[in-house]
Order: sequence, then C-alpha cells, then structure tokens
Amino acid sequence: MKCIRCKKEAEVELKSHNAAFCRDCFLHFFENQVEKAIKKHSMFSKADKVLVAVSGGKDSLTLWSVLLDLGYNADGLFINLGINNFSEIARSKVEKFAQIRKVKLITVDLVDEGISIPDVKNKTRRPVCSLCGQIKRYYFNMMGLTEGYSVLATGHNLDDEVSRLFSNVLHWKMEYLKDQSPVLPSENGLLKKVKPLYRVTEFDTSAYAFFKDLDFVDIACPFSKGATFTVYKKHLNQIEFSFPGTKIDFYQGFLKKLRPIMTNDENSRKNTCKICGYPTFSDICGVCRLKGYR
Ligand code: SF4
Ligand code: ZN
Repeated sequence: MKCIRCKKEAEVELKSHNAAFCRDCFLHFFENQVEKAIKKHSMFSKADKVLVAVSGGKDSLTLWSVLLDLGYNADGLFINLGINNFSEIARSKVEKFAQIRKVKLITVDLVDEGISIPDVKNKTRRPVCSLCGQIKRYYFNMMGLTEGYSVLATGHNLDDEVSRLFSNVLHWKMEYLKDQSPVLPSENGLLKKVKPLYRVTEFDTSAYAFFKDLDFVDIACPFSKGATFTVYKKHLNQIEFSFPGTKIDFYQGFLKKLRPIMTNDENSRKNTCKICGYPTFSDICGVCRLKGYR
C-alpha cells in the first residue's frame, strides 16, 4: 500500500478517508485536520491565550503538543483528581511534558479543595463520572477566567463526540444536544470552549501520539469500568468497521442539519452562585454543594 501523498510505503490506512499515508504525511494530515477545525469554527488565533485541559492521557497531551507545534500560545491546566496511583502517574506525565516543552502548567489539587473524586463518590449516589465531569468543568472555567485565558481547549476527538451524540439521541437529551458543538462561545460568565480534535478519531490520535513518541498515562481510571460511553464506542466501532465513514457523517450531519435549528435559551443559567459566583440554575452551584455549602 502506497502513501496517497508522496507514494512512499504507507504506514497508516484511514478507511473513512479512503486514504493511506507514510509517517510524515500522516503527521501532516493530522495537523492539517486540527488546523482546519480551528479555522472553520474560528476557535482561536495566534494572538489568543489558550488554556489546554490536560489529563495526562493521549488525547489531551496530543492536543497540547499539536497546538504548540502549530505555533499557538497554549498553556496547560491539570486537575489532580486525587485518584491515588492513577492521578499520581497522570501528574508526573503532564509535568514531564511541560518541563520538556518549557511551557506553563497550572495545577488544581482536588484533595486541597476538599472534593477529591474518591471522597465525593462516597458522599453521593450520583454516578462518579458525572460528578467528575461537573467538577472538572467548574475548575476549567474558573481557572481559565481568573488566569486571563481567552479560550479553553479540550482533547475530545471524533469518537468522543460521536458516542456522546449517540447517547444524547438515544435518550433524547435535548438540553445536552443543544450544548454539543466543537465550539461553545463565551457567555453568562462561562469561558469559550473548543474541541480542536473533533475531526480526528481515537485511532488517528493514538497513531499521532505513537509517531511523536508522546509519553502519556496508559492505564485506565479505576472508575471507568462499565462506563456507558465505553460500551457505545465499542458498538459504534463495529458499525464503522462495516460502513467506513459513518461516524463522521453522523456527527457532521448533526452539526449541519439539526444543531442550527435548535434554540438555546430556556435552559441558560440565569443565576450566579452566592458562594463562588459560578453560573448556576439555583442559588448555590453544584461544586459548592459538594463542598458542603447548603
Ligand atoms: Fe473521572 Fe470517570 Fe474519567 Fe475516572 S473515568 S477520570 S472518574 S470521568
Ligand atoms: Zn459555587
């Protein structure tokens, strides 16, 4: 199999693009996809201060690495979830990356905040991943705003977006569907959020991280077992295997046909938390409640 760009021996085959690439041309293709996403949705420019949410996993470290290589002004934000060994390994990978690339890394420690993930898991009946997501979003937003960043970038790839869309459609979660987009503008005290990897798949990201020799956490979070998204991804991969291109069609179709006609008003958070000032639906935000404020 030959690289479709330079005709050298190909190392990566991408069935959904009907393409194969040698290593160098694949890296070029990947960076091009990220740059296209950034430009198409006006995510940010070289003048912006971008804060990248880094977990220590392959997607977020790949995103940080690509943005730096493309010349963007990108710092990292790591939330230490306090999940014992897993969080310690994650922290060491992120710190090592920041040190090698000589870039700024901001860290928030949930143990110091009194809401480590194992702690809150024991205190409430809500699914742990939903709590974890809520707490991470809160600190992404707060740190981004207080540290003067114009935009927050996360490492969600096409598989993440498609499984989330699939889940939201299966259960007709209209309020979540309205919020599903590669870019969410800044509004009501919320920082602008972008997903520059939304055009590339989990497979593409793994190949990129491998070719770039990125050192990331390769063990799963102990709380990820049986998570619904993992099951959805498995089934979506089977469909993609039989019908290459289905995932990107499903997601792009949603962005082009459904999202533009969805209104975005009745659920907007009109209040601000009386403890911390975060936008909320009631008088105290979810994170302040977890911290024990009533
Ligand atoms: Fe948080 Fe769940 Fe991800 Fe673990 S698997 S890091 S608990 S969202
Ligand atoms: Zn609050």
